[in-house]
Amino acid sequence: MNQTELENYISQNITSLKGVGIKTKLLLKKKKIEKISDLLWNIPQDFTDRSNMQTLDKLEIGKIATIKVKAVKYNFPRIRNLPSKVICEDSTGKIDIVFFNSREGYIKKILPINSFVIISGKVNHFKKKYQITNPKYIGALEQMEYLKKIIPKYALTDGISEKIYKNLIDQVLKNITNVNEWHDQDILKIIGNKSWPESVLHIHQNKKNDLNSNFYRRLAYDEILANFLVLSEVRKKVKKFKKQKKTFDNFLSEDLLKKFGFNLTQGQNQVVNEINNDLKSDYKMFRLLQGDVGSGKTIVAFIAAANVIRSGWQVTLMAPTEILAKQHYDLAKKLFNLKNISIGFLTGKTKISEKKKIYKDLANNNINFLIGTHSLFQKGVSFKNLGLAIIDEQHKFGVKQRIDLSNKGGKDCDILLMSATPIPRSLILAVYGDMDVSRILHKPENRKETLTISKPEEKIKEIVAFANKKIINGGQIFWVCPLIEESKKLDYAAAVKQHLYLSKIFKNKVGLIHGGLKKDQKDQVLNEFLNKKISILVSTTVVEVGVDFPNANLMVIENSNKFGLSQLHQLRGRVGRGIEQGTCILMYKKSLSENARKRISILKKSNNGFEIAEEDMKLRGFGDMLGYKQSGIKIFKLADPIHHEDLFLLAEENIKKIENNEKNFYKFNLLLKLFDKADIINQINLSKSILD
Ligand code: ADP
Ligand code: MG
Repeated sequence: MNQTELENYISQNITSLKGVGIKTKLLLKKKKIEKISDLLWNIPQDFTDRSNMQTLDKLEIGKIATIKVKAVKYNFPRIRNLPSKVICEDSTGKIDIVFFNSREGYIKKILPINSFVIISGKVNHFKKKYQITNPKYIGALEQMEYLKKIIPKYALTDGISEKIYKNLIDQVLKNITNVNEWHDQDILKIIGNKSWPESVLHIHQNKKNDLNSNFYRRLAYDEILANFLVLSEVRKKVKKFKKQKKTFDNFLSEDLLKKFGFNLTQGQNQVVNEINNDLKSDYKMFRLLQGDVGSGKTIVAFIAAANVIRSGWQVTLMAPTEILAKQHYDLAKKLFNLKNISIGFLTGKTKISEKKKIYKDLANNNINFLIGTHSLFQKGVSFKNLGLAIIDEQHKFGVKQRIDLSNKGGKDCDILLMSATPIPRSLILAVYGDMDVSRILHKPENRKETLTISKPEEKIKEIVAFANKKIINGGQIFWVCPLIEESKKLDYAAAVKQHLYLSKIFKNKVGLIHGGLKKDQKDQVLNEFLNKKISILVSTTVVEVGVDFPNANLMVIENSNKFGLSQLHQLRGRVGRGIEQGTCILMYKKSLSENARKRISILKKSNNGFEIAEEDMKLRGFGDMLGYKQSGIKIFKLADPIHHEDLFLLAEENIKKIENNEKNFYKFNLLLKLFDKADIINQINLSKSILD
């Protein structure tokens, strides 16, 4: 195959391989293997070494051995369901080869009397005799060379045997040809000078797959770069969108700040400047505002909104939940309290008659600022002149959704996304490389750090007494009882039980939310808590993301070892948002694992989400991290952001050079196809041309 043929070949569906029917196709689909290129990146987890050829006197029980023996006697049972036995020997001894569920004819065919064969399998001892049961590998002497090899083991689903899989991957590996190197010489040198074909063959055929081997690292770098190339394309396209620039003075934003009552922190000021520069430029803003929980992103968004409204455009703000949207709306009404500014509120619950009026007002420019939930993007909603769309708490948006959003907003609409999910530095570009990123690194200074302590669950009485003091002083409490098993729907028994217990002590002051409640019921309880009708809110996990409860100053987390670091940090971030000292109590059952102990001690030490995210990544391995899965980081099949941090940084540096040299892009064609990125690049180019 030449290079072009190879490019086409690996993009084909696996059904073009020999031996893939509808059944195999569906089974492999479960493992996300659909194209031929996907087969390449499902790499062996382990290898079975059958190269260990032995005589029968040297066998070791429990080990895999490869032997050269001849069959001397068959022993087929009269009774069904008993195993068949073939007695075999070499010059040094005897062994029984045992078959369950095999037909006589088959056994006679593969083990003919008196001729030598090669058998490989795990050696057992039964009734003082050696035996190998259902050996996977039996072959004539000519096949010895193959059998003696090291056999890769793949992670497979039920129904696909290793043999079938090996057969497929071998068909593909046969077609791996020399290709034109896509990396520059200096980069190649840094990553160990392995070519693409030798690396691919190596990871499928050699003994050990070590994340640090040069073969593996080369392919990991390939994968990282393929991702960065896509993001770079999006970035280039989006940045090229011309728009009508916004012009404004500070009249509205200063009024807003006066009503807000605090001075902005240095971090907030800097971010406001970055956003203002984007708004005033000729190019569309496509910016992510990243800041730990409680760092004060809302006011920054409102200032941006004020400036855009001041320049005569409409603004919309979307929040993921009804209650958060309502909170933003209430705050906006307070802060944008000027006669000629009108603010609308639209959610799934808005009555039809009201909706119709909102649609009309929007189209006539009688609403300047529309706040709401996903309903903002429904069909009927169309703005007269939308100048800015802000999306709050949207860590779940992937690249594709961000492109769609940018298109939907219209030609002159700037885009601001906000997220509290902290991302380690090595991953920023991998996840948000298509956007500009602003980060607020520090929280407002009047904020006292939340005090974090841990307590064994036997000491609940002490905790109750502490809670009582907080309530007497007007504070409020979150009490989190995690689900015992994530999978079960009705698994909120612990929360129900604790709600009962606390209700007896704190009469009429305790509310409960869990997954069994309807959305309306949840909202009602949350509102009671927000309006201080109740003092304690018992919940499973979901203490609504983003909602600001400045009066809550104690967070009790039961069974805290059930949560990961980042999740605990997010939960803790629900308290200590006012001027009151916040406290977080991590309760635990007696026997804590080493890791759980580490997590608790990290939380006690640090209140910084970015720091904690890095620690989390180290402790858990990156695949498990909460929030990261959602944010789409698990896009990597080979690369590992902890192990290969240097490769991420190298790619980050290199992508800038590539970006400035557009003519060179074609040389990455094969690379992009290998990691299934070619389609998305086409889509990006398409959406660009539609908008032009
Ligand atoms: P998040 O970044 O998590 O969305 P919020 O915008 O909800 O955080 O802000 C958290 C709290 O901090 C709010 O009660 C807000 O009024 C307050 N806050 C924001 N900025 C400042 C500031 N510069 N000084 C003091 N308090 C602030
Ligand atoms: Mg927020």
